[in-house]
Amino acid sequence: MNDVFNFSAGPAMLPHDVMVWAKDEFLNWRDSGSSVMEVSHRGKDFREVAAEAEQDLRDLLAVPDNYHVLFTHGGGRGQFAAVPLNLSAADQTSLHLVTGSWSKGAVSEASKFNHAKVVGEVAEKDGLRYVPKPAFDESMADAAYYHFCPNETVDGIEFNWLPESGDVPLVADMSSTILSRPLNIKDYGVIYAGAQKNIGPSGLSVVIVRDDLVGKARQETPSIFDYALLAESDSMYNTPPTFSWYLAGLVFKWLKGQGGLSVIDKRNEEKANLLYAEINNTGFYRSNVHPDNRSRMNVPFQLANPELDNLFLEQAEQAGLMALKGHRFVGGMRASIYNAMPINGVVALVEFMQEFERTHG
Ligand code: PMP
Repeated sequence: MNDVFNFSAGPAMLPHDVMVWAKDEFLNWRDSGSSVMEVSHRGKDFREVAAEAEQDLRDLLAVPDNYHVLFTHGGGRGQFAAVPLNLSAADQTSLHLVTGSWSKGAVSEASKFNHAKVVGEVAEKDGLRYVPKPAFDESMADAAYYHFCPNETVDGIEFNWLPESGDVPLVADMSSTILSRPLNIKDYGVIYAGAQKNIGPSGLSVVIVRDDLVGKARQETPSIFDYALLAESDSMYNTPPTFSWYLAGLVFKWLKGQGGLSVIDKRNEEKANLLYAEINNTGFYRSNVHPDNRSRMNVPFQLANPELDNLFLEQAEQAGLMALKGHRFVGGMRASIYNAMPINGVVALVEFMQEFERTHG
């Protein structure tokens, strides 16, 4: 089926079946003679697609009725600004757990709008990067929200516990982990994600927000970021990214067809275990992240001899293993293995790594 496996961190590969479905109806959607991207977002057909996508996402994540699901613009970084504008006054504090480059980016954006305070940070254990659980105390109790990023795409750091936050609503940037495992939505005030990893094409962000947190936006909030306006208008206050929304809907159908998130969860576990077993095997490859915090979605790894990095990447590409170069901030390699990456892709990468080690070890 695939001659090439694409390990890009995002925009990332989409499920093959989804691409085929989209291709089949690309020029003539629902016998309209037009593409889905050429029809009005307010027309009956598109509204049906939009509502179905929302319902499928609600089903997959078991989103309770007291949460709104918004389909909006601006990617993950858009929400770095939308969250403080919707949830806090300028003189309020937001709490932040900083575990890598994206949660750090969220702090600098929030600090334009409120008093952003870092209450926990990534540390080291046994010489490896590790996320300690931050303490929560009464001085933090009147903060507007508590922001964290359970999966850091650049750093390959993941944790699946919730920071203790008292009654302060938790806000999670799930851009690179949403839909990779079941979640208990009730634990969160807001979950947001840029689409371009586990949801669909870029240009869309999904926001899941508890209804008591909607309707509190500051007066100066740009209307397209105001959760209340988005909720009231079924995310059609202005023209939404219709093609991305449609394609996200196909991805949700695909996920349901695979058996839902508990099946996907097991598959993701299996893929990550295979790859980390190879990384841990002989010391030729290594990870700088503590085993407790190794991401299942984004797997950075280094060669013990970094002089071989370029050769590794070159030969990997020749073998059809694409986009393995680590983020420019951290170097080395990174294999992003989101939901759409089949297990065969991970097997092909592991076999390539073994062969490369045999030749160059
Ligand atoms: N948060 C995380 C965890 C991300 O991985 C990214 C993008 N890679 C962002 C935020 C920023 O997303 P965008 O580029 O859509 O603004």
